[in-house]
Amino acid sequence: MTLNPMKSNSKIQKRTVEFKAHSRNLFFHILTACNLRCRHCYINPEQHGTNTLDIDTIKKWLRLFSLADHSSSIKRVSDTNVIFLGGEPTLHPDLAEAIREARQLGYASITVDTNGYLFNHILERISPSEVDYLSFSLDGSTKEINDPIRGEGSYETCTLGMKNAAQKGFAISSIFTASRANIQDLPNMPRLLKNLGVSRFFIQVIGIRGNPAHQKDSDLQLSFEEWQSIVPETAMKAAELGMYCTFPKVFLEENEPFACAGLVAENYFVFPNGRVYTCPLCEDYPIHALEIKENKLLKRPPLTESQLFQLKIPEGCVMNRLFHPGNIEYDHKGRIVRKIACCMLKEELVSTT
Ligand code: SF4
Ligand code: SF4
Repeated sequence: MTLNPMKSNSKIQKRTVEFKAHSRNLFFHILTACNLRCRHCYINPEQHGTNTLDIDTIKKWLRLFSLADHSSSIKRVSDTNVIFLGGEPTLHPDLAEAIREARQLGYASITVDTNGYLFNHILERISPSEVDYLSFSLDGSTKEINDPIRGEGSYETCTLGMKNAAQKGFAISSIFTASRANIQDLPNMPRLLKNLGVSRFFIQVIGIRGNPAHQKDSDLQLSFEEWQSIVPETAMKAAELGMYCTFPKVFLEENEPFACAGLVAENYFVFPNGRVYTCPLCEDYPIHALEIKENKLLKRPPLTESQLFQLKIPEGCVMNRLFHPGNIEYDHKGRIVRKIACCMLKEELVSTT
């Protein structure tokens, strides 16, 4: 990715990660079933389907995104990262075969995002050389914090899964979804994750889509002040412990340029019902830009997310303005206080020693 150094001390470099012109990411939901019912789950069966893709279809769709001809900006499979998701992807009995197919096709990197239950003996069925990262979702440093969000027993199972994976030599990362339910615990995560053998730590912010949107759970959302007072400092702590850490930019400073990933990057959020979104904030609505029909990737006619990305508004992100206007603050003259950054824009902290 193109890196813009913003601030650094002797050991840690903080950068805004700009969208990379020559890479693309395939977020491949191979099923939507899951054993857990997390409070902030974004899976919406009405919009994303309830089916499990069979292995032949998974292979065909992997091949589809390994070709360059569906896009005007030519990308190759060797520039494409694939992230297997669900639901819980390890519930899929043929995940190991899907991983091997992606490797054989030459994808740049392969990641599996898991809730840590590691079904179907997945650690015994793949080797560390076949997958770049196993990424574990953990939302608290204790079961008292994590389990009310992710489900009874999930802390113990997930941390055990991380230990087993690390022991077997897998590279592991961890995702923490920050909300009012766990933000105060975030500073405790870096030490725990370091001890569990985590090398990359991704801090996410809760989005009002999926479950939180249906349950009107907006009291989970963080204010700018809550976010600023805890997240950057925790990320610094993680980086000081030697972990690579990223967190969403969320708001832009006055002089920072706005860019919409839907226009300048290539991200595909593929669901098992064939919907393909290019912006995650659109996933609760039938406005996907593309769809897979009979194993072909097709552009959908307007109006889709693609046309909405074109709108230039002072608030920055169009989808936040449309779907989450409560995220935007205006002063007494009606001017925006802070522009909303693209949800795909990240800050990263890297230890340079
Ligand atoms: S583990 Fe993932 S897919 Fe399953 S309920 Fe939680 S957030 Fe949703
Ligand atoms: S989050 Fe906003 S800025 Fe980012 S891709 Fe979606 S519409 Fe564009």
